[in-house]
Amino acid sequence: MKGTVLYGPRDLRFEDQPDPQIEQPTDAIITMSATCVCGSDLWPYRGLQPINGPTPMGHEYCGIVEEVGSAVRSVKPGQFVIGSFATSDNTCPNCHYGYQSSCMHREFMTRAQAPVLRVPLADGTLVPTPGVPSDDLLPGLLTASDVLGTGWFAADAANVKSGSTVVVVGDGAVGLLGVLSAKQMGAERIIAMSRHDKRQKLAREFGATDIVTERGDAGVDRIIDLTNGVGADSVLECVGTQESMMQAIHAARAGGYVSFVGVPHGVQLDGQQLFFEHVHLHGGPAPVRRYLPELIDLVLNGKINPGRVFDLTLPVEQVAEGYRAMDERRAIKSLLRP
Ligand SMILES: [Zn+2]
Repeated sequence: MKGTVLYGPRDLRFEDQPDPQIEQPTDAIITMSATCVCGSDLWPYRGLQPINGPTPMGHEYCGIVEEVGSAVRSVKPGQFVIGSFATSDNTCPNCHYGYQSSCMHREFMTRAQAPVLRVPLADGTLVPTPGVPSDDLLPGLLTASDVLGTGWFAADAANVKSGSTVVVVGDGAVGLLGVLSAKQMGAERIIAMSRHDKRQKLAREFGATDIVTERGDAGVDRIIDLTNGVGADSVLECVGTQESMMQAIHAARAGGYVSFVGVPHGVQLDGQQLFFEHVHLHGGPAPVRRYLPELIDLVLNGKINPGRVFDLTLPVEQVAEGYRAMDERRAIKSLLRP
């Protein structure tokens, strides 16, 4: 089998890898129906996050179960399954609290940009669909593995509810699906911060009512203007830089909620400043497994079409072009088909 391996900045190779095999009785092997490139893959790809030698890549996946270990009970060969980017037993205390991405037995998935994948803790990680879905549903179902689950967590952690005024900082695929999630949760006003025409259009399609093109302090001023000097009930930070984080905190009203799901790179918060901001902060790796059953239902029932974030589809062998297109912002998100 061949798989995707990052050797250094912008040095991505699709090369021979050992065939995945059952290693633990709780493992499953799946053949990939679709996988993709994540915004977070771009940090090491750009050399902004160090790697320790050649690193297998990919953590978003859905496919058909080929084989399961002797201890696996809830997943069977032939089923179509979707799993989270973080594995979970779904039984430990952290899982019970709904934080499966902090499972006491968690592993972060990697190696998913390949035709075949080993998934540890299959019973607690994978969710089967009622039947094998048609091809046109694959992009939407694949988003549930991470990008939609993360946007959904961003909206949930920012306390979005019926009637909320919401700001979304970041117009990557997570931010755009944060817009979609806020809409589903009943937000009345959704302000998307984007200066990119194609992304603004998709944000509007997903439910954005306003677009703000300014950034930093100027962006915050626009939000304050648009909310009659008050700030937003809920702000979703979907980037992970110092500027975007401060933009999010300053855009929230007193007593408002800020979620942060962009993996932070160099973000530093000042305690005294935070004290006087008066906001709730909640973020982290999204507990995608908590939301998977509901998100799969919404996609299968045609209530949402999150697969619209994929604007480039390539054979997995051309994974390097998938990264390049996202790196150069020619593509919002690249889907890879084996
Ligand atoms: Zn657990």
